[in-house]
Amino acid sequence: MTRRTFAFQQRLTKNTGGSVLEIPHTAVLKYATPDELISIFKNQWGVAPEAVVLPVTNPDGLLFPIEGLSEGLSAYAANLGSSIKDFPDAVLRFADLGLDVYLLIDPTLPFLNSDPLQLIDIVGDSSRQLCIGNSRTQDIVASILGTGVDIAIETTKKTRGKLRGVVIDLANLWPMGGDNSRLELTCFCPSCEAFLENIKPGLVRKFKTFPNPWNLVLQVSDTGIGHINEIRRDDGPDEIVGLSRLKGFHKAFEDNSVPFLLDQAQGALDYIEARHTQVLFAARSIFDQVLSGLDMPPRRILLTEGMYYSWTAGLQLERLDSKSNVDGRDSSFDEVWFDIRSSSLSLTNVEHRAYMCSRGHYYIDAFFHLAANASNAEARASTGIGRVPPARLKEMLREMLAKAMASLMTGQTSLGALQDMKSVESSSQRVGFVGVGITKEIGEKFIEGLKVAPGLTPSGESTGVPDIESLMRLMIAQGVQRERDNNE
Ligand SMILES: [Zn+2]
Repeated sequence: MTRRTFAFQQRLTKNTGGSVLEIPHTAVLKYATPDELISIFKNQWGVAPEAVVLPVTNPDGLLFPIEGLSEGLSAYAANLGSSIKDFPDAVLRFADLGLDVYLLIDPTLPFLNSDPLQLIDIVGDSSRQLCIGNSRTQDIVASILGTGVDIAIETTKKTRGKLRGVVIDLANLWPMGGDNSRLELTCFCPSCEAFLENIKPGLVRKFKTFPNPWNLVLQVSDTGIGHINEIRRDDGPDEIVGLSRLKGFHKAFEDNSVPFLLDQAQGALDYIEARHTQVLFAARSIFDQVLSGLDMPPRRILLTEGMYYSWTAGLQLERLDSKSNVDGRDSSFDEVWFDIRSSSLSLTNVEHRAYMCSRGHYYIDAFFHLAANASNAEARASTGIGRVPPARLKEMLREMLAKAMASLMTGQTSLGALQDMKSVESSSQRVGFVGVGITKEIGEKFIEGLKVAPGLTPSGESTGVPDIESLMRLMIAQGVQRERDNNE
């Protein structure tokens, strides 16, 4: 009997273009060869990748030396496999196979020891993670990504694959914490405060009290932080108060009068707008340096979450969708990658690629950041992670790996469900998809091979994995250090 092809299959064949394989961490190359990763990708998506994304740093260190940065290289910077001895080699192997290359940077650079550039939360506590709002951080990020670009251009001179784009991972720029219904958001370092105040004078003062406008849209609970992400570009104070009432968050305020709540809502909207502006400004400053003087500049890409407002990326997705963002003098990027969940949330003016993992890079980053913290002696001595015994840390890593694996969308069904590709017949601006090259087996081998650094005296209360947002904050919060200083 002949089998017919239906709309779904026809759509699928049109939807698979622009396929990109992402290597989230160079450790992946230690446990699988480029050919194996390409064949896993083919099995998952029914199509071979046209390009590869390689990181230019790992959470535990640099992948190549940078003049002026004294930190050592990542434990996974060299001897990744029999055929790959370093970063240029990794670029070469994929480009030789005909894949174009994208380079990705996670601008939080948790391995750098630079107190003046670190995140500071609203109550003044600092973190082991750099603030992208500081222009010195932007310079460091640009010098690492720019050096990666130079290496990739040099390495791909004679290969079929060429450098095609540079990506900034914005998933976790602003980690959040909370304590007793008090929200501790980042970042309020001097450069952030100056930027926010410049955009909205008087803004910072509104948040240095409790309760404050965040309490209308965020809530600390036993299991983490509840958020309202449905904050649309055109929402006004009325809509925010409505959403807050729906969730019951407004009960944080004693004064429940309408004028008071509307004023708080305006404060929250001002914060969201100012933070969004700040992130784009920082990205632009990095891209400008990275691309300066290049004859054939690669595409500038933002990787964020598929939510109307991402609290940890500080971006309002719909606000990115204006022509002026990508055309002309003010353009700050060329393409956006995000996880596409529902057809109503999409970009109609700006080219974008479906990132096939929910919350964008967030869970993947969380897993590799935890691994980097577990193996870093200094992080173990100075952050909340230091009190977790080594065996328990490995267990937590396995749980985080399971979460990251569960966040991956794999299989052709999810591709078929995406909106059409950009073409003459379709007005869609989707130019492809990105699939993450990690499997449970690779992740388990990585955990197995990881050397956990000795920690502090265990606190004994570490049962269960805290929700991911609290964990991200715990990993970088320098609370243990503070506690010790006080005791001395
Ligand atoms: Zn800052």
